[in-house]
Amino acid sequence: MVKINENYLKLPGSYLFSTIAKKVSAYIEANPDKKVIRLGIGDVTQPIAPAIIEELHGAVDEMGEAGTFHGYAPDLGYGFLRELIASEDYIPRGCEITADEIFVSDGAKSDCGNIQEIFDQNCKIAVCDPVYPVYVDSNVMAGRTGEYDETTGKWSNVIYMPCTAENHFIPELPEETPDLIYLCVPNNPTGTTLTRDQLKVWVDYANETGAVILYDAAYESYIAQDDVPHSIYEIEGANTCAIEFRSFSKNAGFTGVRLGFTVIPKSLVRGGVMLHSLWARRHGTKFNGAPYIIQKAGTAVYSKEGKAQLKEQVAYYMRNAKVIYDGLKEAGCEVYGGVNAPYIWLRVPEGMTSWDFFDRLLEEASVVGTPGSGFGPSGEGYFRLTAFGTYENTVEAIERMKKMPSLIK
Ligand code: PLP
Repeated sequence: MVKINENYLKLPGSYLFSTIAKKVSAYIEANPDKKVIRLGIGDVTQPIAPAIIEELHGAVDEMGEAGTFHGYAPDLGYGFLRELIASEDYIPRGCEITADEIFVSDGAKSDCGNIQEIFDQNCKIAVCDPVYPVYVDSNVMAGRTGEYDETTGKWSNVIYMPCTAENHFIPELPEETPDLIYLCVPNNPTGTTLTRDQLKVWVDYANETGAVILYDAAYESYIAQDDVPHSIYEIEGANTCAIEFRSFSKNAGFTGVRLGFTVIPKSLVRGGVMLHSLWARRHGTKFNGAPYIIQKAGTAVYSKEGKAQLKEQVAYYMRNAKVIYDGLKEAGCEVYGGVNAPYIWLRVPEGMTSWDFFDRLLEEASVVGTPGSGFGPSGEGYFRLTAFGTYENTVEAIERMKKMPSLIK
């Protein structure tokens, strides 16, 4: 009789976003006349920029031309895209990253979920709390997290680094030394970032302790403040301790198109082994390359027209972020984020849990958000709203929220 991987059974019953989807469907069924505004899931809403569409069309046409057939893509990505990434995203920021240290993939989710495979079973992970749930869940699947305690919402073998209003959502060095440190900057869900000096502390710590930082920079293009680095490799010493994940989803609307990349510097060595070689081996065995047409479309992200169009898209979403932030502040709420990230993090009214507030928001304003507790135990008492909606819907949602009996103090 085959035995299953029992670690999967340890995962909490239902995934955050499927619970939300069920509640929203039930609400719509009971209230067919109400217009529901969704500010829950972090998916973009603007059409894909014209420069990208044009490149996509060109690539599709090329596939049909005689003598230009493209079969399997190189495992690690086409040179034309890797060179562009290195020269556009890294060299101008002073990072010593070369094209052959970049692994092109179908997005950051799979890479930041899979990266744990190259580390030993006994490695101890540290995560910001709250954070993107993929880091913990993928380590649960790998059997690295111990037991789950329903009352605290914590795994016994995970180091949680609470990020709350009390510490300005900035993770502090843990008492117990971790092997793997997941940092998500700008953070999903709190929208907070680390300055150069704050990030340097982590880089120095990892180099001193031999830990590896797994740095998720999926929201890098939303950074507006000068003292916040866009890449961890802007920090001296990061090449010997950090892996960075990037995505084309949020900066270029590729959530359904799918493209991302992971950077592993060749100087990142643990136990005498280059982590770059391990990931190259893993990538070559389990991934057959992002499609040619998508990688070609990715080049348009770096063209003059593409850059201008995407800058406008980011500005569009950040205008929404300001509408949410300012509107809720005006209504007397405690709000965070929304400056370097498309997420607004809101303290729920006193006496309510994150899920209580989810229900009230849906009932009283027909607006969908995400309960903070879904991102980790320290997310309890908070709530995430995204700036990825349309401007009109965002304005309407905030107007409705301002009238909510349970929000008005
Ligand atoms: N990393 C973070 C922090 C995210 O919030 C998300 C998506 O919401 C991803 C990665 C996934 O990115 P991708 O669409 O490239 O898989």
